[in-house]
Amino acid sequence: MRAHPLAVLAGRAARREGQARMFFLWLVVVFVLGIWAGSVINYCFYRLPLEKSLFWPGPRCAHCLRPIRWYDNMPLLSYALLRGRCRSCGGRISLRHPVVELLTGLLFVGLFYAEIGHNVLGLPYLQMHRADIAAGNIPAVAWAVFGCHAVLASFLLLTSLCDLDDMAIPLPITLTGTLVGLACSVLFPWPFPDAGQALPPVSGFVPPRLPTGLYPWPVWYPLPSWLPRGSPQLGLATGLAGTLAGMMVIRLVRFTYGMARGIEGLGVGDADLMMMAGAFVGWQPIVLACFVAAFPGLLFGIAQLLRHGNQPLPFGPSLALGVVLTLWLWPLLGDSEALRLVFFDPGFLGSIVGSGVAFLLLAGLLFRFLLGTPPKAESRP
Ligand SMILES: [Zn+2]
Repeated sequence: MRAHPLAVLAGRAARREGQARMFFLWLVVVFVLGIWAGSVINYCFYRLPLEKSLFWPGPRCAHCLRPIRWYDNMPLLSYALLRGRCRSCGGRISLRHPVVELLTGLLFVGLFYAEIGHNVLGLPYLQMHRADIAAGNIPAVAWAVFGCHAVLASFLLLTSLCDLDDMAIPLPITLTGTLVGLACSVLFPWPFPDAGQALPPVSGFVPPRLPTGLYPWPVWYPLPSWLPRGSPQLGLATGLAGTLAGMMVIRLVRFTYGMARGIEGLGVGDADLMMMAGAFVGWQPIVLACFVAAFPGLLFGIAQLLRHGNQPLPFGPSLALGVVLTLWLWPLLGDSEALRLVFFDPGFLGSIVGSGVAFLLLAGLLFRFLLGTPPKAESRP
């Protein structure tokens, strides 16, 4: 006997609703994870710039220095329950605590929704499992993808906060982040999460389209025989190349432009931030991210100019946004023939680097001619 068509439709709708509820439940879980990560970020943010130990002594009130008990240290909840005051002395708890916790929670939710729910990274593996994911059965591999980027996003948020606060990014944070990123690169080598497509042969002038991984592209293509697909050594090479590119690009830009303009451009902390992010994304995206970062940088710069006049501007937040934007735009960017030529053809790569340096020199000289050499500002740490 066949079921009535309306009953079939009703059953389907109910199932879809149940699935949507399951996915929503995961978003709540991710939000709770995020606010906990936010409280860790707060904790590091207050401690590391002062070079205090992370582990001793434990969390304490900024006013009376008495230890904070675990039940008074719950993200968001404790601030609300205590009405923003210390239980022992009644001193104000900085509003920054709940704000950063909420921000990190929302950041995690946004990341999960976009990368796992909607596959903005364009990963073939997630595309294959999209029905499962929509039904709330998140494969372990998807959690690994989310986990890596959640850790990267937390480090980017922490470094951006430090940069906004006193225009400095502590090296212990970026070094730790770099090591974590390199560990990710070894654990999840390109094309992780592998959907098993055949790798395209190299024929003709334009390098072929590659399957996108958590690390969007391998360090080089075609893969050398000693760096086989999915091997830890390919992962490490990809991560190390990203680290190196992150270290060098900002320094090169800064040095070239600064030399022509007669000033120091960007802080050293910015280069450290990109070194860290490079370990998480590989060298091609990190190079591109330096340029993508110019767009949020320009917006922030205009906002700063309107609000505070011509003040030095921390570039860390723009770089962090640049990294995320580049990763999310990768399905579009990686598809472009021009980019594949630039990143996989040594001749093109060399000529782009050469013309970039020439452009920076010209821009620096032009600004120097138009604005003159500014008085020597105090150098940033
Ligand atoms: Zn207190």
